[in-house]
Amino acid sequence: MLDLVAKRRELLGPNVSTFYDDPVHIVRGEGVWLWDADGRKYLDCYNNVPHVGHCNPRVVEAICAQAKTLNTHTRYLHEGIINYVERLTATFADPLNTAIMTCTGSEANDIALRMAEAMTGKRGIIATDATYHGNTTLVSQLSRSIQPAFGFGLEDYFRHVEAPDSYRINDPDGQRFATKVQEAVDDLEAKGIGFATLIVCPLFLNEGFPMQAEGWLKPAADVVRKAGGLLICDEVQSGFGRCGSHFWAHQKQGVTPDIVVMGKPMGNGHPVAGLVTSDEIISRFRNAFRYFNTFGGNPVSCAAAMAVLEEIEAQQLQANAARIGKLAHERLSELAANYDVIGDVRQAGMVFGCEYVLDRDTKEPAVEYADRIINAMRHEGIILSKLGRHKNTLKIRPPMPFSEANLDQLVTTLDKVMSETPVRT
Ligand code: PMP
Repeated sequence: MLDLVAKRRELLGPNVSTFYDDPVHIVRGEGVWLWDADGRKYLDCYNNVPHVGHCNPRVVEAICAQAKTLNTHTRYLHEGIINYVERLTATFADPLNTAIMTCTGSEANDIALRMAEAMTGKRGIIATDATYHGNTTLVSQLSRSIQPAFGFGLEDYFRHVEAPDSYRINDPDGQRFATKVQEAVDDLEAKGIGFATLIVCPLFLNEGFPMQAEGWLKPAADVVRKAGGLLICDEVQSGFGRCGSHFWAHQKQGVTPDIVVMGKPMGNGHPVAGLVTSDEIISRFRNAFRYFNTFGGNPVSCAAAMAVLEEIEAQQLQANAARIGKLAHERLSELAANYDVIGDVRQAGMVFGCEYVLDRDTKEPAVEYADRIINAMRHEGIILSKLGRHKNTLKIRPPMPFSEANLDQLVTTLDKVMSETPVRT
C-alpha cells in the first residue's frame, strides 16, 4: 500500500491528488459496494459514474459482446450509434433531436461553447463563480472551484456570476440570479465581446446543490434568449434520472436548453459522453468546424450506453432516486436536530448531504470538521466526500440502486462518527 502511494507520486507526479489521509486501494466493485485489497467492504456513497451499479451485469455483458464482434470509428455505417441516439433523444423535448458523441464531458462542453460562437458570432461566456465544467483549454476557464493559473489569453471572454446558494442567499424564484446574468450580458456587450452563452449545471451540483423550486432557472433562461444567446445545460452530473422527479434536471427547471451536455454516468464507467441539440445548431457547427472524434460513438461505447438506458428503465432507478432522496432528507434532518454543527440539509434526488457550520448564526463553514468526518467515515467503511463553494458540504451521490437499507447504514454510521468527532480540535 505504502509502495503504491510512493509509486503514484514517482510515476504520476509528486502532487497527484489522492483521496483520504489514508488512501483506499480498491480492487473490486459490485452494485453499491467496493472492496479493498485486504477484502474490506465499503458502501459507496460517492461515485455517480457507476450509475446503474458497479460492474452492472447488463452493461458488462453488452460491452463484452460488442468487443468480441467489432469496434471501429463512426465513419462507417453502424446501427449502434443510430439506435442509441434515437433512444437517447426520445427523452428530450423538441427540437433536441440530434447528438454528437464524445469520450469525456470536457470535450462535449468544448463543442457546446464552440456551437454558441458558431450560432451567435460572439464569444462572451457566462458561468457561475463556484463551478467546474472540465479541462480543455477553453472549458477550464469556466471553472472557479479549481481556478486555473493560466488561460491562453481567453480570460476576457468569461464572466462569472454569483452561484446560487439556498442556505446563504435569498433567491426563491431565481430573479436575483437572472439579474446577475443580465449584468454580465450587459458588461460583455459594453466591452465589445458580445454575449454567446450561459452554461450551467441545472442542479448546480458542484456549487453545492441548492434547494430550488421547480422552474427556478426560467428567469435566467429568459434573459439569455432575449439577449440572443444560447443556454447550455451541463448535465454531466445531473442527468439520467438522478434528480428523481425528471430524467433531465433542466426539465425540473422548466427550461428547454439549446444544448444539453452529458457524460459521467452515460456508459457506467466506460468513457462515453456527448451532447444533444437541434439539427440547426449541429449543422452550423459541422459547417464551421471539420469535427471528427476517433473514439466517440464507437460500437462498444454505444452498447455500454444503451445498456445503461435499458437498466435505468428496467430497475426504475429514477423513481428510486426520488424516493431515496426524500427519505435521505428526512433522516439527515433528524440528525440535524441533534447536532448544531449541521447548518443545512439539502437533496436533489440521489444527491444529498448536509452543510457543516461552526455557528448556525454566522454560518461560518466547518471545513476542517468536514474533512475529519469524511476520513473517519472511510475507516467505518463508508465512501463519501465534500463539495460546494466552502467545501464544507457532504457530497453524497451514490450509484442509483442505493436502497433504504443502504441509507440506514449511511445515516447510522454518520451519527456514530459525528458523536465521536469534536467540532473543534
Ligand atoms: N461537467 C461537470 C458538471 C462535471 O462535474 C465534470 C466532471 N467532474 C465535467 C463536466 C467534466 O467531465 P469529464 O471529466 O468527463 O471531462
